[in-house]
Amino acid sequence: MKDATPSVLLIYTGGTIGMIANPETGALENFNFAHLLKHVPELKRFNYRISSHPFDPPIDSSDMEPLHWARLAGIIAEHYEMYDGFVILHGTDTMAYTASALSFMLENLSKPVILTGSQLPIGTLRTDGKENLITAIEIAAAKNSDGTATVPEVCIFFENHLMRGNRTTKINAENFNAFRSFNYPVLAKAGIHIKYEPNLIRKADGKKPLIAHRLFDTSVVILTLFPGIEERIVTSVLHVPGLKAVVLKTFGSGNAPQKEWFIRQLKEATERGIVIVNITQCTSGGVEMERYETGMHLLEAGVISGYDSTPECAVTKLMFLLGHGLTNKEIRQKMNSSLAGEITKR
Ligand code: ASP
Repeated sequence: MKDATPSVLLIYTGGTIGMIANPETGALENFNFAHLLKHVPELKRFNYRISSHPFDPPIDSSDMEPLHWARLAGIIAEHYEMYDGFVILHGTDTMAYTASALSFMLENLSKPVILTGSQLPIGTLRTDGKENLITAIEIAAAKNSDGTATVPEVCIFFENHLMRGNRTTKINAENFNAFRSFNYPVLAKAGIHIKYEPNLIRKADGKKPLIAHRLFDTSVVILTLFPGIEERIVTSVLHVPGLKAVVLKTFGSGNAPQKEWFIRQLKEATERGIVIVNITQCTSGGVEMERYETGMHLLEAGVISGYDSTPECAVTKLMFLLGHGLTNKEIRQKMNSSLAGEITKR
């Protein structure tokens, strides 16, 4: 039976936050969870019940794969009734992919799942890890006056900003302020107080049971356009055996070369059943294929809009939908709708 003490499950996957410098090479290597906790004695001062679930061994987030996402969803589902919220400590490099994937996997989520990490290991003097971890725990336990979770969604908390996970991108390899949500406002800012934006946070229906989906199909590719891209390259990518979907990173508001071979290759690919989703290379803003003639040609070739999706979100959403054996038509419909607040449709 769960008591009234706020409770948070801390899932440690790895990443810089828990790393330590190898004395011989100087390279950062994964260290165990006990080491990490030793450097945050503040955790004991929380009046919360905090338990941990470390990955063994911890992994650099460059090694994250759908099977790890499935493991995370499984851990959350297994402990869902026992905790008020979940904090996932994760390497920053692919955190936005994991956050996007989990936002689709955790259907009917009504509790916070907050991913965080750091740019400097928690054992170093100037680490950003402590602040990130402590505030993430507070957010994961936060409740409204009616007892429901303040932030019932998958988020990334980093350097005082709480962002919707599937809207977030890593933008800096150096600064503490490493993540941005360009196309959706931040859900909370942490200063002296944590100031939440209730109107921007998703509403949850706590009566519906959590469903943890775990299947992915990785037969996808991200193809970034650039002036001078060659026909043989595009042709060969679109003819990779078994390819099922393409995230096409186009120019500006969704524009692409008008060359006959290019449009023909895309059209033939969509006719072969490959789903091609158009997102912009720009960090901010979205795709409006009706706006220019160049975009109209893509529409005519069967390319669908990815709206203002991040690349991380578009590719994980496609892998998720493909993994669930949906038909081409169903995938196109779902890419066209917001499943977890990941796109803005005008
Ligand atoms: N390479 C690390 C990782 O993503 C970087 C970090 O944690 O910031 O696991």
